[in-house]
Amino acid sequence: MIMAAKEKFAEPTYLECGFGELEYKVIKSEICCRCGTCEAFCPRIEHVENKPALVNYDPLCGLCFTYCPRTFLDMGAMESKLFGRTRNADEALGIYKKAVSAQAQGLAAHAQDGGVATALLVAALQSGVIDCAVVTDRDEEWRTVARVATTAEEIVAAAGTKYTISNSVQAVKAALEKGYKKIGFVGTPCQIQGLRKVMLLEEPYQFGQDKIALLVGLFCMENFDYDALMTGLVKGKFGLMPKDVARFEIKKGMFRVIDKTGKAHEVKIEETDAFTFAGCGPCFDFASELADISVGSVGSGDGWSTVLTRTDAGEKLYAATLAAGAVQEKAVSEKGLALAKKLAAGKVKRFETKCVEMNVSGITR
Ligand SMILES: Cc1cc2nc3c(=O)[nH]c(=O)nc-3n(C[C@H](O)[C@H](O)[C@H](O)COP(=O)(O)OP(=O)(O)OC[C@H]3O[C@@H](n4cnc5c(N)ncnc54)[C@H](O)[C@@H]3O)c2cc1C
Ligand code: SF4
Ligand code: SF4
Repeated sequence: MIMAAKEKFAEPTYLECGFGELEYKVIKSEICCRCGTCEAFCPRIEHVENKPALVNYDPLCGLCFTYCPRTFLDMGAMESKLFGRTRNADEALGIYKKAVSAQAQGLAAHAQDGGVATALLVAALQSGVIDCAVVTDRDEEWRTVARVATTAEEIVAAAGTKYTISNSVQAVKAALEKGYKKIGFVGTPCQIQGLRKVMLLEEPYQFGQDKIALLVGLFCMENFDYDALMTGLVKGKFGLMPKDVARFEIKKGMFRVIDKTGKAHEVKIEETDAFTFAGCGPCFDFASELADISVGSVGSGDGWSTVLTRTDAGEKLYAATLAAGAVQEKAVSEKGLALAKKLAAGKVKRFETKCVEMNVSGITR
């Protein structure tokens, strides 16, 4: 396959840098966001001791370097390809068609907010837009487990936010290996960046990028290291075991842990800085700007989600889900949208500072 590509493309750039450069530029320098994209599309990279590792030497290939969202990322170029234009200065949440507050029917007991992320995936599966969904479930100890869900029940079972870093894109590999051809994915902005980069790159290899059919993105300000959060906060500060936790949430500047007796334990969000995952520093994307449709809590009231439809596919899916009565909607308030934009702008500022501190290059917004 490589010979054929070389004949077709005289100097493919993805052969210039390999895993060695990825390891040096991204993994060892701690700007890796652990999205799992490099692990998903390379049979030689595995997740070893919580990070990507080359388990089988390959002297020729550099797909991992090319696909990684932290080696180089040109948002302007990606927006142009995806939306046909770049954003305007007032589009702090990225390019979108419609912004609404929405709430899914019958998912309140499972969902983090309005349950819209889950409802969209279920609707996509039931209407044949996707034939499976890669979701991020958890075990009893709140360790993330990325799964290939093929039923509505499995998608619903994975609802709810796990505030710990997860290499969820890696599970796309399992979906491809199982032969799925219309893969849906839900995840954080960095995970969406990785997958969209793979989908938009003009390169000759076919590693399954044409099988990604839908990207549902979440809003995300920051994420946490599992060991640091569980040891430092859950056990250290609150005296709880992870298995005693029923729910984590971030609301109105507080990080809150609700235990299985229903009791809430909380600290100001600033007090969780020590548990933040290092790779979240150089991250500018709050609203999953490259998703087909984005869903978050900021901007809407309790039990509702803020929804931004971005691509034609996202708009169509949302319209069909609404028409089927699986979600209801109301106008998102100006105040709510302004708050989301303010947080997005704050994330860009943090990105700029962290890029200098962490010597990050090649990522342009
Ligand atoms: C790490 C993280 C940080 C977030 N920070 C913000 C924020 O600052 N502001 C804001 O408005 N919203 C934030 N969100 C989004 C918010 O928590 C909800 O996910 C969103 O509002 C959708 O709610 P829902 O009820 O529609 O989702 P649900 O229907 O409950 O579905 C949630 C989906 O999220 C997926 N998921 C859960 N945890 C992870 C994970 N760690 N990695 C990848 N996918 C995951 C699951 O697969 C599930 O399908 C964050 C989400 C995550 C995962
Ligand atoms: S950022 Fe993602 S693609 Fe890049 S090295 Fe880390 S896990 Fe791999
Ligand atoms: S802050 Fe950025 S890098 Fe960290 S989980 Fe969220 S999107 Fe990914």
